[in-house]
Amino acid sequence: MPVRIVNVPLGQRSYAIKIGPRLLRRLGAECARLKLGKRCAIITDTNVGRRYARPAFDSLATAGFSPALVILSPGEETKHPKSAAVCYDRLADHRLERKSFIVALGGGVVGDLAGFVAATYLRGVPLVQVPTTLLAQVDSSVGGKVGVNLKTGKNLVGAFHQPRVVLCDLDTLRTLPEREFRAGLAEIIKYGIIYDADLFARLERDLPKLMRRDARTLAGIVARCCEIKAEVVGQDETDVGLRSILNFGHTIGHALEAISHYGKYLHGEAIAIGQVAAAKLSSEVLGLPARQVARITDLFERAGLPTRAKLNARQGQKLFGAMRLDKKVSGGEIKFVLAKRIGKVVWGQRVPGDLIEQTLNGEP
Ligand code: ADP
Ligand code: ZN
Repeated sequence: MPVRIVNVPLGQRSYAIKIGPRLLRRLGAECARLKLGKRCAIITDTNVGRRYARPAFDSLATAGFSPALVILSPGEETKHPKSAAVCYDRLADHRLERKSFIVALGGGVVGDLAGFVAATYLRGVPLVQVPTTLLAQVDSSVGGKVGVNLKTGKNLVGAFHQPRVVLCDLDTLRTLPEREFRAGLAEIIKYGIIYDADLFARLERDLPKLMRRDARTLAGIVARCCEIKAEVVGQDETDVGLRSILNFGHTIGHALEAISHYGKYLHGEAIAIGQVAAAKLSSEVLGLPARQVARITDLFERAGLPTRAKLNARQGQKLFGAMRLDKKVSGGEIKFVLAKRIGKVVWGQRVPGDLIEQTLNGEP
């Protein structure tokens, strides 16, 4: 199978996303092309490190690099300034310099944290992303948003720091737990809804193959999603306009994650519920046809994702409160990304509070 290459067009900061099997063993060779320093650090977590740190390390060493290995605990709690401080010390011990680079080997947690460390250590060192979850491959490793969480909220401290290259090794997805894999599908379905009706139809057709993790199907779909993200980020790198379409389903999704204290739902599950709710709001506000709302709901269901949260009145109130705290809210007004039809969304849509409430409590 050929390696697919998607270019992220950002002028001087343009870079390639490479998608294919057996890419991890080419890590060293890929880094050698970038003319970076000799020293580097691989940042990973124990789950990923156990399986993939060795091939990553060996590939870099064989290409003449001198890697340090930083292995953190898995999970969202690791995305914290304290872990960044642990990393800084290790980088300094290993004498990383301005031309040295950081390899983020893992899912979104590792990518965001290692990216934040790369953005800030010595006021910025080069970053190489090697995403190992479906979600990280199609979403978080591309676009340059990096950051850590605070007690008060997720991603409250961060930066824009574009990677020099992104290597999506499809073989690493084979060991991903089923629930994590499905969560990644929620972002994939999102790209169909916000940007590409053909992709949506292809997902309706090929979902069984995709869920079997068929290599060719995965390659085509991951590449298409990266292409869409690259196009959007290329037009609006710093999130002042178009980029907000990537937040479809995320206003409600983030709030659900927050009120369940990031325990009950994976991000992908929360945004599956959020996207179904946003589709229902879209039919009320923009006339998204009922038939398309049903197709959206069905696809999430077939992907094994939740499509509604059963909330009691008190939880509903908390959800509202959480939506107002979202960092995307400005001047106290909650704005939504809504769909006109599958493949076409508009952002900055005002939605009356009682309509949101009604939709969340509504009939299935
Ligand atoms: P996400 O990419 O969804 O934001 P995380 O970085 O939290 O998520 O990764 C989800 C979980 O899957 C973590 O426990 C992580 O250690 C584990 N993980 C990541 N990649 C793989 C992989 N390729 N195989 C097995 N487990 C993995
Ligand atoms: Zn998301």
